[in-house]
Amino acid sequence: MDIKDISSEELRKLASSLKQQGITNDSVLNIMSTIQRHIFVEPALRGRAYDFDALPIGFNQTISSPYIVAKMTQLLIETESMENVLEIGTGCGYQACVLSNLFEHVTTIERIKPLYEKTSNLLKALNYKNISSIYGDGFEGCKSNAPYDAIIMTASPSVIPDELVSQLKPNGRMVLPLNINGSQKLYRIKNTKKGILKKEVDDVLFVPMLEGII
Ligand code: SAH
Repeated sequence: MDIKDISSEELRKLASSLKQQGITNDSVLNIMSTIQRHIFVEPALRGRAYDFDALPIGFNQTISSPYIVAKMTQLLIETESMENVLEIGTGCGYQACVLSNLFEHVTTIERIKPLYEKTSNLLKALNYKNISSIYGDGFEGCKSNAPYDAIIMTASPSVIPDELVSQLKPNGRMVLPLNINGSQKLYRIKNTKKGILKKEVDDVLFVPMLEGII
């Protein structure tokens, strides 16, 4: 059996375990059962690509577990306003691909140059035409593609970056792992007329969001 056959069987199992773990959105389940996760990890780790773990992607960074990707994506979805999304922390590009099947346009930012180069080449090779891959500091967002319906942060900051909030549309939403006194919580925030509404969702563990590019 080649890896394609193995992965379609694994993808079916992955989607059904996501459902069992409480992922309810059918679009998220459908998309995650079509994207071959093994393509995004190192060849040596491909056998573990459909396990429920976060995996190393080099440069001291990790691809989040499928459950966390599904959970965060589900939190970003609203029936209307699925045009423009910003992701902070491109990493291996898996989350960006999931988003690109749901939103009309995805902008994704990575601060580590070789990781940015490797992933933007992969995304080009996979022919994802609605993803703009940017080398830069996510704290600055990407003004030229703003405003965004939604922003997802896949590295953990210790404050909600004001600059990113300013790049959200009115009623835009942001999902982020916020580090408060050393422990991380997943939040969904909404940019309303009355100010920022903040909802705590879960305990999580992400790599820290660091300033500047390298
Ligand atoms: N979404 C990714 C997960 C990557 S892990 C995936 O699907 O693979 C988080 C990533 O955030 C790392 O690659 C890290 O380098 C990046 N990161 C951390 N701080 C950042 C910042 N200030 N700007 C942009 N990327 C950042």
